[in-house]
This record gives sequence, structure tokens and C-alpha cells, in this order.
Amino acid sequence: MVLLGDGEVGKTALVRRLLTGEFQKLYRPTEGCEMSRLKLATSGGPVVFEVWDTAGLEQLGGLKDGYYVRADCAIVLFDVTNRESFSSVQRWLQDFRRVAGQVPVVVAGNKIDLKDRAVKAQESAGISRRYGVQYYDLSVKSRFNLQAPLLWLARRLLQEP
Ligand code: GDP
Ligand code: MG
Repeated sequence: MVLLGDGEVGKTALVRRLLTGEFQKLYRPTEGCEMSRLKLATSGGPVVFEVWDTAGLEQLGGLKDGYYVRADCAIVLFDVTNRESFSSVQRWLQDFRRVAGQVPVVVAGNKIDLKDRAVKAQESAGISRRYGVQYYDLSVKSRFNLQAPLLWLARRLLQEP
């Protein structure tokens, strides 16, 4: 799975939260690309995701195709308090789909624990209709829907060999 989205939307925080349970307030940009193995109990049995947390160059027009080419699925994150990160979702999706094709994708609007939401719930939800992806509100901090994106992807991947 590749984890995509603008810088500072919470990609690394999501992986860390799922991996260790910790949540860090301090923002430190990821350097390069970090791979973690995430084991998840699903109704279909245990699933291990190889998660590629992409980084550093998020803002510089996407990633190299090499990151996408072998991906079985993706999560595109944005920050619901940052409209620019929401506008970037389309670019991340197109960039990914161009190389990876029609594999399962989840878009998640993170940081819904914050009060100054700049992207309305309705707008966010519109994404699933427009782009044919699954959408979730998310808060890595409060743990709201923390496992939902991965569980959905696991279900889809197990269904479709
Ligand atoms: P990345 O650049 O996408 O990897 O973003 P990070 O994971 O480094 O997170 C950027 C900042 O957002 C950090 O300061 C995190 O603590 C913060 N953050 C991540 N998820 C949440 C969340 O759900 N709620 C709040 N309030 N802050 C978050
Ligand atoms: Mg990061």
C-alpha cells in the first residue's frame, strides 16, 4: 500500500499510531520513503500490509512512478482544516491511477478532531462519487476510524484475488 497526500496531513502519524499506538504532536517531515509492515486482524484472517510512507517531496509534483507501479492499493490523505491539501487529492489520485490502474483506493479526511474544519463533511463525501473511491473521515489523534481505511482495503483485496 502506498500512502499519499500533501506534507503535514498526517501520513506518518497514521502509520506510527497503527504500529505503536503513539501519537506525536511534533511535526517532523519524513525523509525519503519509509516502509513498515502493519499486521491487522480482519474478519477474513490476519493481513499484513507493506506500507510505503512517502515523503519529503510531496509538494514537488508527486512521486516517481516506481513507488506506484507495484502497489496493490493506496490511501490518499488530506487534512480537513487545510483546503489546499483537499484540492491536491485529485492530483494524487490521477498520478497514482495513471501508473497503478484501477486498484482499490481510500481517500481519508484526517484531523476531524480539530474545530476549524475547512472542508465540509458533504464536500469530502462527494469525493467517493466523483472518483469512485471509498471515503472516510479520520482522526489519527482521537482514533476515530483509525483502522477503517485499512480494513476496507483488506476486505477488497481478499475479495478480488
Ligand atoms: P505527514 O507529513 O503527512 O507525514 O504528516 P505527519 O504525520 O508528520 O503529521 C503532521 C502533523 O499533523 C503532526 O504535527 C501531527 O501531530 C499532526 N496530526 C496528525 N494527525 C492528526 C490528527 O488526527 N489530529 C490532529 N489534531 N493533528 C494531527
Ligand atoms: Mg511524513
